[in-house]
Amino acid sequence: MALAETSMTLEGDRRSILGRAAIVMGLLVYAGLLAGAWWAVVNLLPDQVSLHAFGKTKVVGDVHNRIVTGIGLVAAILPAALWIECLVVGWRRSSARALIFGPTMSMRTDLAVLVLGQGQVLDLVGKAMMLGLSMISGAAIRDWIQARTGFAVDLTALPFAAQLVIYFYVYTFFDYWTHRLDHSRFFWPLHRYHHSAEDFCVVTSARQHPAAFSAFFVINLPLAILGATPSVMIFVSVLVTAVGFLIHSQLTSDWGWVGRWLIQSPLHHRLHHKLDMTEPTGHFAMAPIWDRLFGTWRGTADPALVIGVAQPYRHGFWIVPDLLRDYWHFWSGFVIRRTN
Ligand SMILES: [Zn+2]
Ligand SMILES: [Zn+2]
Repeated sequence: MALAETSMTLEGDRRSILGRAAIVMGLLVYAGLLAGAWWAVVNLLPDQVSLHAFGKTKVVGDVHNRIVTGIGLVAAILPAALWIECLVVGWRRSSARALIFGPTMSMRTDLAVLVLGQGQVLDLVGKAMMLGLSMISGAAIRDWIQARTGFAVDLTALPFAAQLVIYFYVYTFFDYWTHRLDHSRFFWPLHRYHHSAEDFCVVTSARQHPAAFSAFFVINLPLAILGATPSVMIFVSVLVTAVGFLIHSQLTSDWGWVGRWLIQSPLHHRLHHKLDMTEPTGHFAMAPIWDRLFGTWRGTADPALVIGVAQPYRHGFWIVPDLLRDYWHFWSGFVIRRTN
């Protein structure tokens, strides 16, 4: 009996080692394909395209950046995040397995938001819902300030890595305060949509109400006004998107001192999503330093901590009713006082 058990364990170990080796190989192949695709976009596609239609010519510039930030960002980082999670927690507990073979109602919402977001549908809806507010350009404001005052922040003389670190912390500073604003009475109904998730499945990071404008404000406006070049902004986006996916994963780690000081960990973000509101919410920042400085550092979460919101949600693939209800709650919140 004992022998049979030992050989079964050995068999299990061998299989899990093989499984993990397959995941690592897959990840390497994927990274190679991605690097190839990146090279092809930059080297084979023109950065400027002229479109001719109805006797008119429209020039579309900055094509490389548009492709990388538009579709490439999520398409590149999401599979990598799913792979890394799978590598750490194993296939059985992975989000990839749950998403493919049995997504919960909450996960179905995450998937629907992701697909519509990638199809730029929610982007357009968001622009309409926020009355075009998100179309203001940070770079244009910077040029306007410079033309009038002669002043502009310019860090391009610094090494690229230093710029990346500086602008990551600039980003997380603004993200911290807009996130605090998201949790205020007026903006909560829109941000609540993100918090309504009942399970983390990596994709949960993309579950944002299209009218929630904070992502735009924190990336586009302050970073561009403060002189971040488009390529620095792409890499800050890559970093933020990758961390965003990982903190909404099944990883049950507090990342040690990294999670305590440098970058938010999955367990700290789990505590931010807690359903129980008897203690105030903390951990608003992707960089823990801001929570520590501004008094919202709370510690770490139990991996089994229940997440969600008190407000009932339908969830599922058909996301329109929840989105409209939350949008209505947002506007009506200026007139009617709500408690959740
Ligand atoms: Zn939040
Ligand atoms: Zn979250």
